[in-house]
Amino acid sequence: MGWIEAICGPMFSGKSEELIRRLRRASIARKQVQVFKPAIDTRYSGDEIVTHDDVRMGSESVNSAEEILAKLHWRTQVIGIDEANFFGQPLLEVANQLADSGKRVIVAGLDTDYMGRPFPPMPDLLAIAESITKTLAICVRCGNPAKHTQRLVDSDELILIGATGAYEARCRACFEPGFPRQELLDFAAIGQSSATVPD
Ligand code: ADP
Ligand code: ZN
Repeated sequence: MGWIEAICGPMFSGKSEELIRRLRRASIARKQVQVFKPAIDTRYSGDEIVTHDDVRMGSESVNSAEEILAKLHWRTQVIGIDEANFFGQPLLEVANQLADSGKRVIVAGLDTDYMGRPFPPMPDLLAIAESITKTLAICVRCGNPAKHTQRLVDSDELILIGATGAYEARCRACFEPGFPRQELLDFAAIGQSSATVPD
């Protein structure tokens, strides 16, 4: 019998790590495994998923959710899909179809965007999944558990592929939706205090 497992959380929370862990265990159990990621995410490597800790696993890049079906080998039993938030709503139908046909489908993706809003299609994927794991990162500001992906560059694009330093993990209290104006405020405050330092 097939099913859908969802892994969701912010960047740096260990989603890819967890996905790779489950897929490796499936391989050890001699299951036929295939791993997919969106072609849009070319940050590290064309044919591998890579964690922030540089753990790697071979994968196939696809341009759409439908292409996963096209590239599927009939013998494949376990399907891993990373960066699910880049596939859009068509991923729902594809994941359902795979699970209905007896496959184990493990999907990992961001559950919220740079504004803290639910990131389609993850909310719907969570609803149709048999199992959900929410991973949290560590807030780089205060050290508390972090559920947010903080954008550090000024852009209103929903999808802005993470160049180094473009994002960091933050908790609910430290998160600033969009581009952190706080950075500018800190800068202004420094300017101000230095101006009032007596010489
Ligand atoms: P994700 O797929 O959720 O972006 P990865 O699996 O690629 O996460 O990376 C997780 C790893 O990133 C952690 O094991 C840790 O070593 C590292 N890391 C770097 N910054 C942080 C952070 N702020 N909080 C937690 N882990 C972090
Ligand atoms: Zn914090």
